[in-house]
Amino acid sequence: MRTLEYVLEHFPHLRERLEAERRAGETPIRRRTRAVLKIQDGCNVNCSFCSIPLTRPVMRSTPYTEVLEEARALVAEGYREIVLTGVLIGDYGPETGSGGPDLAELCALLGEIDGLERIRISSIEPTLVTDRLIDLIATHPKMCPHLHIPLQSGDTGVLQAMNRPYDQAFYLDLIRRLRARIPNCAISTDIMVGFPGEDEAAFQNTCFVVEQVEFCRAHLFRYSPRPDTPAETMRQQVPDPVKAERMQRLQHISKAAAQRYAARMLGTVERVLVETRSKLSGLMTGTSDRYLQVEFAGSPSLAGQLVSVRIVDVSPEGVMGELVGAVHSATE
Ligand code: SF4
Repeated sequence: MRTLEYVLEHFPHLRERLEAERRAGETPIRRRTRAVLKIQDGCNVNCSFCSIPLTRPVMRSTPYTEVLEEARALVAEGYREIVLTGVLIGDYGPETGSGGPDLAELCALLGEIDGLERIRISSIEPTLVTDRLIDLIATHPKMCPHLHIPLQSGDTGVLQAMNRPYDQAFYLDLIRRLRARIPNCAISTDIMVGFPGEDEAAFQNTCFVVEQVEFCRAHLFRYSPRPDTPAETMRQQVPDPVKAERMQRLQHISKAAAQRYAARMLGTVERVLVETRSKLSGLMTGTSDRYLQVEFAGSPSLAGQLVSVRIVDVSPEGVMGELVGAVHSATE
């Protein structure tokens, strides 16, 4: 994270502006910006490490009329972005109670709500990313060019042991297709380290995928057995010190890869939903359509607004931008 001292040393032209804002004594404001809206529950994929199918095996989609009603209420409360969540969100559809639309169609309906500026899909299984969803994200101005697609492992053998319904080649091909249609599409992910049977070669396959994909963010977890799951009794459990050492290595690799991804945006103008002023750096901070946390010099009164920010610096401390202008609406 950047500190004020770091900002003043590396961006001296901001000194006057930041000091003027400090003198003006504007208090940091945190406006309502992003709301999470759950639209689906239950999962029957039966990943061998997961206990959810044991407790919530029945899949249910929230009727789309209720989703739209709730979304309108959130917009009326001041939220500009809605993050759609669910246990198996890609399964959203008429077979499980949506009342008609599948996920892509629901997003299109949400896109018609005035005042709702951004729609983000929180986490979707790789096998459930449809061509229609990709097309919608590529063409709809309110859809964020960002998907969270759990990888769990980059090794085909480990994926089989996890009972995940894809292999390394499928995952990499999906990312290739996404980025061919949606330039610089941000991909975040979940990765589990130390699943039973993960040897060094298998771990290296995960590192390979992380290097290739350049996730904008990767949530890394150490495998820990869940009661009554098939993985709990698998042989070849990985010792804790090995898991810890692999976690460390993967953290290092994924941070560097995320920085390379962010660096691809240098010089581009990104749409940022402004959240608050960083207490540490004194800069305003917000989240871009591509899920970058961006800091820039600006007035606290911008909190809650969509602004255009040019990306000017990417470093281990974060992503720095300069304000280009206000965006009034995604559809303008
Ligand atoms: S990890 Fe996700 S997809 Fe797999 S069983 Fe659990 S909830 Fe379902």
